[in-house]
Amino acid sequence: MSEALANLLNETRQFPPPAALAAEANVTAGSYDEAGADRLAFWERQAGRLAWARPWDEVLDWSNPPFAKWFVGGQLNVAYNCLDRHVEAGLGDRVAIHWEGEPGDTRTLTYADLHRLTCQAANALTDLGVVAGDRVAIYLPMVPEAAVAMLACARIGATHSVVFGGFSADALGNRIQDASAKVVITADGGYRRGKPSALKPTVDEAVANCPSIEHVLVVRRTGEEVAWSAKDHWWHETVETAPAEHTAQPFDAEHPLFILYTSGTTARPKGILHTTGGYLTQAAWTAHAVFDLKPATDVYWCTADIGWVTGHSYIVYGPLANGATQVMYEGTPDTPHKGRFWEIVDKYKVSILYTAPTLIRTMMKWGEDIPAGFDLSSLRLLGSVGEPINPEAWMWYRQHVGRGELPIVDTWWQTETGSIMISPLPGVTATKPGSAMTPLPGIAADVVDDQGRSVPNGGGGYLVLREPWPSMLRTIWGDDNRFIETYWSRFEGMYFAGDGAKKDDDGHIWLLGRVDDVMLVSGHNISTTEVESALVSHPAVAEAAVVGATDPTTGQAIVAFAIPRGTADTSGEAGEQLITELRNHVAKTLGPIAKPRQIMLVPELPKTRSGKIMRRLLRDVAENRSLGDVTTLQDSSVMELISSGLSGGK
Ligand code: ATP
Ligand code: MG
Repeated sequence: MSEALANLLNETRQFPPPAALAAEANVTAGSYDEAGADRLAFWERQAGRLAWARPWDEVLDWSNPPFAKWFVGGQLNVAYNCLDRHVEAGLGDRVAIHWEGEPGDTRTLTYADLHRLTCQAANALTDLGVVAGDRVAIYLPMVPEAAVAMLACARIGATHSVVFGGFSADALGNRIQDASAKVVITADGGYRRGKPSALKPTVDEAVANCPSIEHVLVVRRTGEEVAWSAKDHWWHETVETAPAEHTAQPFDAEHPLFILYTSGTTARPKGILHTTGGYLTQAAWTAHAVFDLKPATDVYWCTADIGWVTGHSYIVYGPLANGATQVMYEGTPDTPHKGRFWEIVDKYKVSILYTAPTLIRTMMKWGEDIPAGFDLSSLRLLGSVGEPINPEAWMWYRQHVGRGELPIVDTWWQTETGSIMISPLPGVTATKPGSAMTPLPGIAADVVDDQGRSVPNGGGGYLVLREPWPSMLRTIWGDDNRFIETYWSRFEGMYFAGDGAKKDDDGHIWLLGRVDDVMLVSGHNISTTEVESALVSHPAVAEAAVVGATDPTTGQAIVAFAIPRGTADTSGEAGEQLITELRNHVAKTLGPIAKPRQIMLVPELPKTRSGKIMRRLLRDVAENRSLGDVTTLQDSSVMELISSGLSGGK
């Protein structure tokens, strides 16, 4: 991005917060002023929402940047904050988790239940020799034991490393080795797409090459036959028979809480390290502020997997620190039918729904009749995370899930940031479809040019964070140099997020996708996100991915892959006509410079296991190269589907 990105997409719709929500909102416009006047005092007040065993001496020690220390000298226990203090406050009978298994089996866990199980797991782990500072790998399906395992580690000061249950033995093994984990907690399997999907064999294969692993703790979920070795212990024979009394000991605010490896959209996975006090402060406050969480009345549902940071901060730590009631779902959105999500919203009367653009676009593809078949009237707030949300997907979400009236919080953040950084506040912000809007109070986000200068309104460039924040990553596990190089070397004294962004004329922030994905066409920088959003704004398109392919005349040329919506006819002549129409549609929406050289209609797009489009592989297709590394793909057959079924013209 050698020059400012042009502000191509011209989105003018704006939606003020519903008056009733604004009147009762947890957080009002005053918090921007408060944080603006004194950022550290603001965060200090939010830290005060937690229970500390020892108060801090200093809010922030930034004497050795980029290595931050927050709430220096303070001590607390994360599990105590998420469980014990609610039980002690008389809320033991409140439902913490309404769990829904994919086959339709259910479990209800109150705060007292979750507390008891966590204490038992803490005792069992201690018996297995786990002590504070040890690393524990967690490789589980979406069962309540996943949350229990994380909380039990936090309770005894062990650092957890959750690895998404869809990853291979190699990926799991690499992560175990990188962190020298002592124990791995897994299950025989989980349910996916209507059948049991085994996990234990993958763990066995990984552990064979991981001498650091002393014990494997196995939850029984599917009941399928598993191989057994001397290191293996059943969860129900170890944890569920352990004593239910356990006193949580406080840990230093900077004690390592977890390592989480980024999904690997770009390079070799990085072990992002998060610590205790600052992380919990910001995770808890953002859940309270951005979701306007009312623990006594709301039913909250985040559809992410616990293997991603969203599952860490907004299934486990943020909601539980607030004492919220939530839904946890094991399976896929189309099992046994495409209305499963809406059925769950209806069944549990979900009031706050937090999901990802990839899912919203999938729902668009399936058609609005499906959500229309369920009672979604319990919903009062919608959230989005993971990728830029195309304005049309945003509008669809508002219209067909949000009754045309619910606020949507489009939340920008990363594994590295630990918590939400840029987002509307639902009771304050008049939202714009496709914009994450404004840095939260206490967060210093900016968009800068090549030289690190703040761009004026209307300009585009790189997203940066100018000041440390409580839930920031502390380092890359075992690799301080890579931490400095990756995030702190591009611009002096600023955190480089790796995302392109623009400020609109009102100064609101629009995320434009990864810097690596930006295209350079005839000397103009064009963001993939904007062209994709233009395509999705056509009624025949549900989802699109755009890449820049080498071109002899323009340097790079735009090549687009589009998934048609359910009803569109894409065979033969009709397909050719649609492609011509789409090329013209983009040229009309964004200008002739953005007209794709080529559009291919495809049934699916390659995505990472966290649901993000992998443009790198599409670039290989567009440039007729053999495919690069496909190991982090959700479904490796997708690339064959795309390569074999291309029905695209010039
Ligand atoms: P890797 O860093 O290994 O490539 P990843 O970046 O996909 O993996 P995450 O930390 O889960 O792993 O994702 C953070 C990224 O997701 C952000 O940098 C941004 O590109 C994108 N993102 C998340 N939320 C939003 C949002 N609301 N709007 C736009 N982009 C978003
Ligand atoms: Mg990233």
